[in-house]
Amino acid sequence: MMSASDLIDLQVFIELVPNPVIVKNRDHRLIMVNNLACELFQRSREVLIAQRAEDLFTPDEVRAFHEADDRVFSTEAIDESEEPLTDAYGNVRYLITRKQRIIVNDIDYLIAVLTDVTAYREAEEHARNLSLHDPLTGLPNRILFWNRIEDAVSRRSGSNALMLIDLDNFKAINDNYGHATGDNLIIDFSDRLLALTRPTDTVARIGGDEFAILLTDISDSSVVGSICEQIIHEASDLPSLMGKDAHIGASIGVVPPGCGLVDQAEMLRRADVALYQAKRDGRGCWRAYTEEFDHALLNHRSESAATILAGE
Ligand code: GH3
Ligand code: MG
Repeated sequence: MMSASDLIDLQVFIELVPNPVIVKNRDHRLIMVNNLACELFQRSREVLIAQRAEDLFTPDEVRAFHEADDRVFSTEAIDESEEPLTDAYGNVRYLITRKQRIIVNDIDYLIAVLTDVTAYREAEEHARNLSLHDPLTGLPNRILFWNRIEDAVSRRSGSNALMLIDLDNFKAINDNYGHATGDNLIIDFSDRLLALTRPTDTVARIGGDEFAILLTDISDSSVVGSICEQIIHEASDLPSLMGKDAHIGASIGVVPPGCGLVDQAEMLRRADVALYQAKRDGRGCWRAYTEEFDHALLNHRSESAATILAGE
């Protein structure tokens, strides 16, 4: 059993630990902290000891701390958990906290050794974001877009619309004005798409000059056609940005709302078929999917195959 002087020695001891360390009593009050804990919380020892957790941290954080404390006091097991914590400047930090019960003079205390893993969590979040976004425009990429359609389809509301947009004659922009100009046009076009949609919609870049939009919770289906018209107008206006007389446009394939409760793969397939039809119909237009487009595509494919087989 430790004596009162041992408790004083504890302060010396926790200063030797190369991590922030705090000691609490059964009422969740901090009674001892080391210098590294003061640095971590960005508050002086006096402030940390004098104030209650409620004065320093958010209610959710305090609840999580107290629940973990109670687990340790009631089970005597070592508790290791990750807890978010808002520092004195309002920044959220992630801490792995290892809590253990100690008894000094027959009184229960809890000693917690903290490891700040904020930098790891931020690096993970950054890597996750990179893997889900297009580096040129910052828009969601194909993978994130797929997840968003999956979510929308799983809600089974039937009020979602999907658009696949492919810029027309974009290769010629690269060929005539250079790749950097092409990149700038892609960035500008993505900004224009964002300006035409709501924050709850998803605008994605899913290929070189191919974009996709998922509109959710559509109450008036005529909105879809009107957005398509505006997109086509914005695309044809892009060269004016460069002060150049280039010809560019956009073709769009649409799966309108209420088009049956199909899964995300079928939604994308239908949008792709409609886009193909828009390209066939001369580009610079939008087409909403109908089953006839499937037949037209099948006929075209079998004609192409027949041509190849005939050696033409
Ligand atoms: P279409 O009218 O049939 O759509 O033909 P297109 O010339 O637009 O060509 P297509 O859609 O078949 O191919 C897209 C082109 O976009 C190919 C490539 O030259 C260009 N591209 C793809 N990715 C990038 C990119 O990141 N930056 C730039 N500048 N150009 C790209
Ligand atoms: Mg294109």
